[in-house]
Amino acid sequence: MWSNHINYDVWMRTHQLVLHWIENQLSEGQLSVGGRLPAERTLAEQLKVSRTSVREAIRILEALGVVRAGVGSGPEAGTVVISDPTAALGSTLRLHVATQHLPVADIVETRVLLESWAAAHVRPDAPELATAATLLDEMDAVGHSSGDGAAPIDDFLALDVRFHLALADAAGNTVVSAMMGSLREAIQGYAGRLTANLPDWDATASRLRAEHHGILAAIQNNDGGRAAALVAAHIEGYYREAGVKRPPEA
Ligand SMILES: [Zn+2]
Repeated sequence: MWSNHINYDVWMRTHQLVLHWIENQLSEGQLSVGGRLPAERTLAEQLKVSRTSVREAIRILEALGVVRAGVGSGPEAGTVVISDPTAALGSTLRLHVATQHLPVADIVETRVLLESWAAAHVRPDAPELATAATLLDEMDAVGHSSGDGAAPIDDFLALDVRFHLALADAAGNTVVSAMMGSLREAIQGYAGRLTANLPDWDATASRLRAEHHGILAAIQNNDGGRAAALVAAHIEGYYREAGVKRPPEA
């Protein structure tokens, strides 16, 4: 439990005040990507808080992928506003998956939601489709699991996730892309763990390869409806084959 230590309460308020101020500056356009925060001392004086509070707020923003704390002095010094929502969401999701607060079944449903929408909205001339096709070639070239141990499985799954991200990117919605990007590690993590439940990895890999080609072909044929149905069946099929049951409704 949190202690009711007085200093702690004060620290909570003041660093949140700094966060609030920065958030306001961003939403009002006073600060934007590439811009610099005022120096720590200036900010502390302006907001009438300690420099420790400013430093704490900046550390939090850094972890959230909103700023990059500066080093050294000169024109390049200072804390710069950046935009890296994917990295921050990714590590947050990964931690919550690790603590079981994000059940795999929920990730699977979210994938179906995002990816079937994306598959239905991909523009057939999107440059990401060429990337997707290359990834399928690379996946075809990954060897069988026998002999080399787990490495080919990991290689395959890493390419598999990249294929799905490429399709999501090809839909051209930056929010969907960022959400998919943030799920990347969670997806690769659960897909990897579930391979232990599969009766025959090589058979599964062959099926996945064929399904990927089918999805891409539907998109290239401008059949978004079919692509969406195929990608949903592909995601759910893997999960089902690994023998995972949906937890009972709460
Ligand atoms: Zn796949």
